[in-house]
Amino acid sequence: MFGYPLRRICTQILGDEHVSQWYDACDQGQYLPKVSADYCSRCGASISSKAVTAKGCAFCINQTIHWQKIVRVSAYEPPISDWIVTLKFKHAWRWGQMLGELLTPHLDLPDLQDNPTAICPVPMHWYRRWERGYNQSQLIADCVGRHLHLPVMPLLKRIRYTPSQTRVVPSQRTVNVSQSVGPRPINLNGWTVILIDDVKTSGATLNNCCRQLKSMGCKDIIAAVIAVADPKHNDFKSIDAPPDGV
Ligand SMILES: [Zn+2]
Repeated sequence: MFGYPLRRICTQILGDEHVSQWYDACDQGQYLPKVSADYCSRCGASISSKAVTAKGCAFCINQTIHWQKIVRVSAYEPPISDWIVTLKFKHAWRWGQMLGELLTPHLDLPDLQDNPTAICPVPMHWYRRWERGYNQSQLIADCVGRHLHLPVMPLLKRIRYTPSQTRVVPSQRTVNVSQSVGPRPINLNGWTVILIDDVKTSGATLNNCCRQLKSMGCKDIIAAVIAVADPKHNDFKSIDAPPDGV
């Protein structure tokens, strides 16, 4: 899938030290223990599969969740967290493709066979996109769509600029993102949508997107993220803020 020899030579010729680090990590299998770690398929929290019931785990059993299942690559911890920070805050847009390649194998699901299926990235407000230069969720979604031969569709739009969730106290996060995302005039009756984001923190943004997709008639939603933050540390300040000096 990664086409190591040619791409590795290319990236080293291009002199991108981060890309070379990524291939080194893959060669050494550094991310593999994270990929195989148990997690709750309802909320994505790291937890033994023996502690997960049909209604979820201890972290999510009292939560309202509007997706059918969540798929993740890893908990939000090194090296994945370093790569996400590089994608979001160091203008290294190529990491969108590389992280998408990590996510794709987790989405080869039998439940995708039955319904018409589309991939939808979590939308970004135009002002933030202008600041960053790209929507990292769109980059990841484009890569997954290419590999799975599924259409990537901008089914949702940001209709209100909101502060980053990490700059809002946890109790206000649902209010912060409410009515920030709106539907496009598309009929999704009978469709399955794979909703893609880079990181799940509280889940308020994903839930808000799911509500809109359901209002468009969407039948099933699979949330797919690169990493899930530890629900025991719900300030999430280290996740959406660039490290010092960046
Ligand atoms: Zn759970």
